[in-house]
Amino acid sequence: MDLALAPPEMQRPGLSGLAPGVLEAWLAEHGQPAYRARQVADAVWRGKTGSLDEALPLPAELRRDLAEAFRFDTVARTELTVTDGGLTEKALHHLDDDALVESVLMHYPGRSGARERHTLCISSQAGCAVGCPFCATGELGFTRDLQTAEIVDQVRFASRRLIAEGRRLTNIVFMGMGEPLLNLDRVLPAIEALNDRRRFGLGARHITVSTSGVVPGIRRVTALGPQFTLAISLHAARDPLRDVLVPLNRRWPVAEVVAAARDHAAATGRRISYEVTMIGGINDTETDALAMVDLLRGDHAHVNLIPMNPVAHTPWRASPMPVIERFAAMLEAAGIQTTIRSNRGQEVGAACGQLAAEHAGQPPAPAVARRRARLVAESAAALLGERSREPSPVGAGE
Ligand code: SAH
Ligand code: SF4
Repeated sequence: MDLALAPPEMQRPGLSGLAPGVLEAWLAEHGQPAYRARQVADAVWRGKTGSLDEALPLPAELRRDLAEAFRFDTVARTELTVTDGGLTEKALHHLDDDALVESVLMHYPGRSGARERHTLCISSQAGCAVGCPFCATGELGFTRDLQTAEIVDQVRFASRRLIAEGRRLTNIVFMGMGEPLLNLDRVLPAIEALNDRRRFGLGARHITVSTSGVVPGIRRVTALGPQFTLAISLHAARDPLRDVLVPLNRRWPVAEVVAAARDHAAATGRRISYEVTMIGGINDTETDALAMVDLLRGDHAHVNLIPMNPVAHTPWRASPMPVIERFAAMLEAAGIQTTIRSNRGQEVGAACGQLAAEHAGQPPAPAVARRRARLVAESAAALLGERSREPSPVGAGE
């Protein structure tokens, strides 16, 4: 977004998104001693509230100047919905230009020796241009890229609540709204802040970025060395079907995506995770499992099978569990490590994007019916192996 055109509130940068050097330079310009940078970082990253007023080591005048120049919390207007008996907390953040994004905090109690985990799923964009038909965010279309501070403030919002309960965030996944590799210029500094011991301090192994297959983005990240775990949203191994499920496939076909993922694994020594949303009768057939085996055999990869969360605008539903189990068994038999995941918080629509979609209002019934009819026709053609000749709806590249 062009900041000059942004609402007045957004013209002040978010404090948490500043690179340390930028903050130090600002403090020096305001006649502050060097140790103030540490105190400001502590207030941002370890503070118990979403307000600078509590940052008591800072002189009142400095707090006032900081508040005039920067926003302390870019997700101050947030609605929280708790479900699954307290295990899932879904946050709907109203940003300063009224764009909506979501983050979801999931608690996994410790079991049989395993430590408890608190995983936060965050958004990288408001909406998404990729337009996967089974995804509530895809249906919303693209609004804008999130700023670095708007990304990390979702983490600060969840972390403050956990700290107040004597717990701490253990994992962050970029699996909320948006395609993180189409907003890398903001996502990479956000990850740097989350990694940095003097800021959030969460190890690279505990951060996962999921992509629908933006090949130049995967290659750019590979060149940087291991910063996080990469997850690829695969969904189908056959191009004609993946063209329908992940429209970006028309630009970067599945073989190119997997080749880039393989190079990433070789360069970083880190295993690649593949995500497959299991959609009944669409991508869960034996032919699909065999194609996936052919594509991934011999790779150091892990496949996660996730039953599709129902969304209003598609006729599709999750594959039945026995079908998912058979699919998993076929992959396992070929030596591909496979896990079946549950989908959390279905009752409040925890597939990220669903709360925001509900907030935006459902599209009118005839539009939904037309979209469903087109999906049925496209997927039927894809299952027969015809490749759609339509150009990719995503014009933007890198
Ligand atoms: N744009 C990125 C990251 C955000 S989507 C990507 O596509 O990878 C995060 C994950 O949620 C993806 O694996 C996506 O396929 C999955 N997802 C989206 N809609 C879903 C639904 N209705 N049910 C289950 N998973 C879904
Ligand atoms: Fe975008 Fe990911 Fe949803 Fe596809 S699944 S529309 S890439 S957010």
